[in-house]
Amino acid sequence: MRSLEPSLFSPYENAFLPAETLSSYAFSLCGGPCAGLFRIENGEMLKGLVRCCINASIPYRVLGGMTNILVSDEGYDGVILLNRKGSVSHTIGEEGSILLKADSGAGMAAAVRYCIENEISGLEWAAGLPGTVGGAVCGNAGAFGSDIAKIFFRGEILDEKGTLQTIQKADMNFDYRSSSLKHQQNKHVLCNAVFRLEKGQKEQILAEGEANKEKRKSTQPVDRHSLGSVFKNPEGESAGKLIQAAGLKGFSIGKAEVSMIHANFITTQKGVKSADYHNLVIHVQKTVYEQFGILLEPEIEMLGFGVK
Ligand SMILES: Cc1cc2nc3c(=O)[nH]c(=O)nc-3n(C[C@H](O)[C@H](O)[C@H](O)COP(=O)(O)OP(=O)(O)OC[C@H]3O[C@@H](n4cnc5c(N)ncnc54)[C@H](O)[C@@H]3O)c2cc1C
Repeated sequence: MRSLEPSLFSPYENAFLPAETLSSYAFSLCGGPCAGLFRIENGEMLKGLVRCCINASIPYRVLGGMTNILVSDEGYDGVILLNRKGSVSHTIGEEGSILLKADSGAGMAAAVRYCIENEISGLEWAAGLPGTVGGAVCGNAGAFGSDIAKIFFRGEILDEKGTLQTIQKADMNFDYRSSSLKHQQNKHVLCNAVFRLEKGQKEQILAEGEANKEKRKSTQPVDRHSLGSVFKNPEGESAGKLIQAAGLKGFSIGKAEVSMIHANFITTQKGVKSADYHNLVIHVQKTVYEQFGILLEPEIEMLGFGVK
């Protein structure tokens, strides 16, 4: 792991946390060390630190809730910008539509709450979705037939030179659990996003959100640690059904286990190693391939495991 002088990050040097262990921050409970970490407080700090890293040629990654990324036990030899704070606001757009603006560090839960309080409809599908706005846009998160691509209007990103740019939906190349942000492997950092939503009725928005949360509770291991769906659904198939049919429900390696509630979830316990999780991913892939000839493609991101 490289050793970094805090003064490289002026004026944020006092917030520098050297050699942090990522398992303390990851929802999977695993992940090795990083060269340094900052807990981002606001958009200015995010921009400032991205620019510091670019200017000093230090590798960096912006992470949100860490609910969709598995970092290896060897960790990440660079700076982690942990972006978990931000605000949400709205304005009225053309033809009465509502433009919801959220900082990338805002939690999706906070955005959903804001919509309920302000009678804004269009984000009900995201009730119960963990993580931040930045992570959701990057992975084009979706549920119950909707996704970020359907509501994204525009956003601001920092490009690889640290220049702030406005991007439109067409620039995002949204696809199934993917976007241009994902393809560019964090070279572009989302600062904020604007979603086009509409006026709704509080009771209805609340009821739909609650119903979606209940559906999650009855079909997913929501009270356990996990990274959500591990594999993408192959065309016309369900990854969970294939894994279940392969007899893998309950199969475990170390402290990582294929969930008994939903076979496309791997749940983890305190003390789990990233290698346990990773080896289980490979075992599931291999078993499903041997039995059904279908190669499952990971939906989660894996950082620091070499060739995937
Ligand atoms: C119980 C559970 C249920 C889940 N259900 C769903 C579901 O229904 N649908 C779904 O799609 N996902 C689901 N997930 C997965 C995950 O919650 C989502 O993908 C979420 O949007 C990830 O957000 P995050 O902030 O945790 O991202 P992280 O895991 O922190 O990061 C994911 C990626 O986004 C990038 N990123 C984060 N912020 C930025 C930024 N500001 N700029 C550029 N790149 C950025 C990171 O670099 C990384 O590449 C679930 C996970 C769990 C644990």
